[in-house]
Amino acid sequence: MKRIAAILMCLMMVFILVSAGAEEATVSEKKPKIVVLATGGTIAGAGEAGKTAGYTPGSLTAEEFLSAVPKLSDVVEIEAIQVCNVGSDDITAETWITLANTINEMAADPDIKGFVITHGTDTMEETAYFLNLTVKTDKPVVLTGSMRPATSISADGPMNLYESVCVAASEKTKGQGVLIVFSDRIYAARSVTKTSTYNVTAIAAGETGCIGIVRDDAINLYESSSKRHTTASEFDVSGLQTLPKVSILYFSIDADPSLLQYAAEHSDGLVIASAGAGGFSEEWIEVINGLSIPVVISSRIDDGIITNDDLLCSNTVNANNLPPQKAAVLLRLALTGETNQASLEELFMQY
Ligand code: ASP
Repeated sequence: MKRIAAILMCLMMVFILVSAGAEEATVSEKKPKIVVLATGGTIAGAGEAGKTAGYTPGSLTAEEFLSAVPKLSDVVEIEAIQVCNVGSDDITAETWITLANTINEMAADPDIKGFVITHGTDTMEETAYFLNLTVKTDKPVVLTGSMRPATSISADGPMNLYESVCVAASEKTKGQGVLIVFSDRIYAARSVTKTSTYNVTAIAAGETGCIGIVRDDAINLYESSSKRHTTASEFDVSGLQTLPKVSILYFSIDADPSLLQYAAEHSDGLVIASAGAGGFSEEWIEVINGLSIPVVISSRIDDGIITNDDLLCSNTVNANNLPPQKAAVLLRLALTGETNQASLEELFMQY
């Protein structure tokens, strides 16, 4: 009798172990789902076979350029959404708001692990920084693109796309803010910028550097951003159709100060790309001192900071190390709410 009971017990244990194993297998076989939001750019560009210049960005659909990376379906399930198909110089605030709202709505779906946005490199950093301040999810949001069109020799798009999808599917990049993955490197949206008009390593992050390295599907993350982003950001664009208008004025020797006046009359805020750490001429100082709209001082120099001691006009706000094009993104968002000089200064410190 005791032997029969022992045999029955063994059989029950084997059954329990087999069913637990079977459940584990189903869970691990389920591939993560990644949403690819395609906006155009060189990664979707086509031109004369083999050539790297003289192509048309935004020529291929998401389905077409995704088919160049069949390996993707080994690792993830992809849902592709064609948001638009343009060169990134034609991206608008309306496109940004559509991207933010789409991600914010879809992020609630527990099956979706992350998002990849394909985008032209010219303005990719602006879109990345905007989304860094407006998406409300910890799920990875990764932007990528390419410097060579899909029809060139050694096109860089397929590898950038593959590595971006791997980064977006990873647990390691959750909560890191919006990222750009390019040429095997992982960048934080706030510090990344385009540094070359043609080179395949055109995306970089100056003196602060990349935050990680990706090689195939191996992700190495080294740093995180200490600035507020995504779920810790206060900016909400869900009810907006567009953003306030901010103009960027670039200072150079003999730059005409009447342009400042003109821009101030046609904008809600100004960003000045000063020379060095906040410098511009006496003529500009005089006009800027008389402006009554918010004016943020950035620099036309790639690296370094502007300190409050560098500010020449007391009615201006310090962009610290944000380049003009990103200072404009933050100012546009800031101007969607109530602001005064002190609150703008605070925002430019926090974000
Ligand atoms: N002009 C292209 C764009 O930004 C350049 C690129 O994608 O690299 O759309």
